[in-house]
Amino acid sequence: MTRKDLISMLEPRKVYLRRPPETTLDYVLAYLRVGLSLLPAHGVTNSRCTCGEDCGKDAGKHPLANLVPSGVKNATTDEATIRRWLARRSHWNIAVACGSMSGIVVVDADGEAGLAELECRGYPMTWTVQSGSGGLHVYLKHPGHPVGNWKIPGIGELRADGGYVIAPPSRHRSGDRYEWLPGLSPWEVDLAPAPDWVPLESPQETQRVSRPTSVALAPKLSRLSKRMQDLVRYGNRGEYESRSEADMAACVAMFGAGYSVAEVWTAMTDPTNGISQKYREKGRQGERYLGLTISKAWVVAKPGRARVCVKPPKSDPARRQKVMIRVG
Ligand SMILES: [Zn+2]
Repeated sequence: MTRKDLISMLEPRKVYLRRPPETTLDYVLAYLRVGLSLLPAHGVTNSRCTCGEDCGKDAGKHPLANLVPSGVKNATTDEATIRRWLARRSHWNIAVACGSMSGIVVVDADGEAGLAELECRGYPMTWTVQSGSGGLHVYLKHPGHPVGNWKIPGIGELRADGGYVIAPPSRHRSGDRYEWLPGLSPWEVDLAPAPDWVPLESPQETQRVSRPTSVALAPKLSRLSKRMQDLVRYGNRGEYESRSEADMAACVAMFGAGYSVAEVWTAMTDPTNGISQKYREKGRQGERYLGLTISKAWVVAKPGRARVCVKPPKSDPARRQKVMIRVG
């Protein structure tokens, strides 16, 4: 058996249920059949966290320390253990461990802007929860290598190895329950792989730019607009609030015009170019400063990363409407 076969055997998958779950125990048993690892979190009664403290945004979201002292590390797929937890305390919110423990990563989109951006980028038909705050949790297949809990700029966060999400029928501090969107529960639809825009590789690994090993010839500036050519040649002459903003703008423009990282590096460090002033002044810190600037510029300029939403949402209108109503 290959590693790939093994991964696909262990993957969580859709299950057939005779009737939809109703009680917390029904849900727990369904999740276990699906292959999800669970842990108990504090519940919410009368808008208060059952731990008795004023937990703010964390209310109803943190693990029950007396049952799972190591938090998400104590998550399990073992029914007997979970029945024991339920016997000791019948009222808790269900937390699903993300990452390889359950074979899932979850995109946690929150706020009106986050949901709009999620709709804009598009996501597959897959297990999808409307959270108690009106956000969405989009469950996706774990890629089989470690994935961190990274921010997804513009959308929210990725919950992966070491993270967890609260699952239906748990109650949010707003008083609303977490619910599977109609037709998008693990007993109605398959779990889909992550679309390309989900950051499954460490942002540091993919974006950090260090001094190129090959030296590029000084690039011709003629591919840039006259304004940008002047910026590179003479540096910031008051058009930007700071030199770092000017450096960023110059790098973005060069990437936009198709220059390679090595070419951008050469242009930004060339002492005959005014734009290299800040880099040169920073001395030994210069490389780090420029590396970060170029990394950020790359993300901004890279096609598909900072794309403007022009296409209609991919998901079905009924689902979208529900989300929008709840948010607005
Ligand atoms: Zn609490």
